[in-house]
Amino acid sequence: MATSLAETIRRAGVVGAGGAGFPAYVKASARADTVIINAAECEPLLQKDREILAHFAPDVARGLRLLVEAVGAKRGVIAVKAKHADLAALVERALAGQSGLSVHRLDDYYPAGDEFCQVFEVAGRLIPPGGLPIQVGVVVNNVETAYNIARASASPVVDTFLTVAGAVKSPRTLRLPIGTPLSQALDLAGGAAVKDFAVLEGGAMMGRLAEDLSRPLTKTSAGLIVLPKEHPLVRRKAAGRPARERRGRSACDQCCLCTELCPRYLLGYPVQPHKVMRGLLFAAPERRAWSPWGLLCSECKLCSLFSCPEELDPGDVCAGVKADFCAQARGGKDSPLTAGAEPRPHPVRPWRKIPTAQLKERLGLTRYEAEAPLRQEPYAPPVVRILLKQHAGAPARPVVSVGRPVHRGELIADVAPDELGVPLHASIDGRVTAIEDFVEISAG
Ligand code: SF4
Ligand code: SF4
Repeated sequence: MATSLAETIRRAGVVGAGGAGFPAYVKASARADTVIINAAECEPLLQKDREILAHFAPDVARGLRLLVEAVGAKRGVIAVKAKHADLAALVERALAGQSGLSVHRLDDYYPAGDEFCQVFEVAGRLIPPGGLPIQVGVVVNNVETAYNIARASASPVVDTFLTVAGAVKSPRTLRLPIGTPLSQALDLAGGAAVKDFAVLEGGAMMGRLAEDLSRPLTKTSAGLIVLPKEHPLVRRKAAGRPARERRGRSACDQCCLCTELCPRYLLGYPVQPHKVMRGLLFAAPERRAWSPWGLLCSECKLCSLFSCPEELDPGDVCAGVKADFCAQARGGKDSPLTAGAEPRPHPVRPWRKIPTAQLKERLGLTRYEAEAPLRQEPYAPPVVRILLKQHAGAPARPVVSVGRPVHRGELIADVAPDELGVPLHASIDGRVTAIEDFVEISAG
């Protein structure tokens, strides 16, 4: 009996490369009428999805076709920003003659890549509050995931793509073995162009400060933004939750701009960050009455890094209340705000989309705009550390022991068939030299 696509990509360890690393086989097992490959890539300076499409458009197109067939869809779409006209034309050529497959040209706004925005733009449907695209018959994957799906029958996932940009000597998009230290990715982009620098892992908007550059790349790594230590964005990212809440309590004047420009609010979801900020004025039990207004926040950070005139952090405060709800195992599904309400897009939404150029200007990143071409030469790090937990679900358990020789692509850790998760594979040839919450492989 032929192996299903879902089983092939489970064995190959394919996860969503653009977010929390949700195992891709789950989406490939669903039934849907539309598949979207999300190529919006609106994190400023990051361009790995564009580079993957520029070099491997036929593979991404094949990944889309495989998904369309697997879920029984009638329509498959690669969603690219209209401003990348050459890329859209290239993708169109890769899809030519394939029934039901097409390019959708997106407006250039942040966050056009948010699943809720994208499903609305491409399919004209609104995901139920707190729900998933599949509930409206749509499956969404990102470009790298589609590329990995196309290659899954030939090779497991052993490399990851990322852009290294900002204050570096040679901005680059890199394809590196999973487990390569962040510091080596930085070196491959020529190193920092300033003496005192900080690194934002995952992007300027949704990324975090990387405290330890010896940490390994994972299947979900997307990019490193290097900035001078004194850059305002670094200062904002360095603030901890107590400082954010203290500033929010004393300086928020309830102007509501954070809410008025919030992409989720504008789509009609019950997200109102100014009300979560209002909650900071209250003690814990009363504060909880305001917290649900942050539960459906996507953590895009537009309110924190663009909208708020006082430079407060309503997006981070919303992220905090979401984390609190999860820690209390309440999830937010029990909130009156998330139960049954039909979202209705705000009539002014089309005029409140924030252009990415304006966002870059506000973030102080315009001067770092540069092409980051894909480095073609393969790179073999001397040592990799492959984290056992780098996807949503159960961590993988090692199936190798210290001292064992392994080859690139060989299974090194697995999950039980009934667990949510995927196996992991050696990303270089070598020998297992340590096992902790990672499998360390040393070359030679
Ligand atoms: S935009 Fe800033 S000051 Fe205005 S309500 Fe939101 S957090 Fe408060
Ligand atoms: S981070 Fe702010 S702007 Fe983004 S969804 Fe959350 S509340 Fe809205």
